Amino acid sequence: MILFKKFLTTLIAAAAVFTFCTLAIAVNEFNQLDNELSQIDNDIRSLASKVRLMEEAVRDAEEVAIQKALEFAPQGKSIYQLRGDAQTEAQRLLDKLTDKHELPRYQLSGIRFRPSLRDSAAGTVSGCEAENGIFVMSLNEILFLRNYEEFMHMIIPHEVAHIVSCLQGGFEIEEGESDTDAAHGEEWKQVMLDIGFKEPEKYVTHHLDMAPVHEYDLDLARRLDEAFKRGDEDVSEERVLMFHVH
Ligand SMILES: [Zn+2]
Repeated sequence: MILFKKFLTTLIAAAAVFTFCTLAIAVNEFNQLDNELSQIDNDIRSLASKVRLMEEAVRDAEEVAIQKALEFAPQGKSIYQLRGDAQTEAQRLLDKLTDKHELPRYQLSGIRFRPSLRDSAAGTVSGCEAENGIFVMSLNEILFLRNYEEFMHMIIPHEVAHIVSCLQGGFEIEEGESDTDAAHGEEWKQVMLDIGFKEPEKYVTHHLDMAPVHEYDLDLARRLDEAFKRGDEDVSEERVLMFHVH
């Protein structure tokens, strides 16, 4: 009987130790999992915070550049009226040319205004193979506001000529010729002549002052860098706040 009691006590003790160990392991694993989840949570917050701050940086840099550029634009008009002028002029020219060549009328979709375009371009038009036949015209807004007259009389006609040459059937790309050269080939030059430009080859590239656009690009890069670094700070502040609330 005593032997049995001893056996039973040992068994219970062993069970207790086993349970304790199992529990300890479980608690440890649970803690580890909790730590990992906290880390993931922190990473996501950090990423979200970076994205939010970088979006703000883009908006701020754009606002500063556009406000500065507006000082050079014709006074007494809002930015919406100025953008509308570009849209109206592009459509007027397009209507005149399609009419002249007896092409169906083409309604231009809204012009996109960007503070900076690729390759220092003042304006661009999506290629002739544009999806669903929709041509998208983009204009560099910093340059547009600072050089309103040049845009109305030179840049917009240049871009409209691209659209009309597409509507007339596109352009040939000769062997070894770059896309840009082909786009400003005979077909485009002919439309420019139709508009009234005597020497179209002089209007292939612009000579506008790019300094304000470069200034914007630099300012944006600096702001983005700052926002990216600040992303982590923001999260640690949020975390401190969270612990206090709990
Ligand atoms: Zn062009």
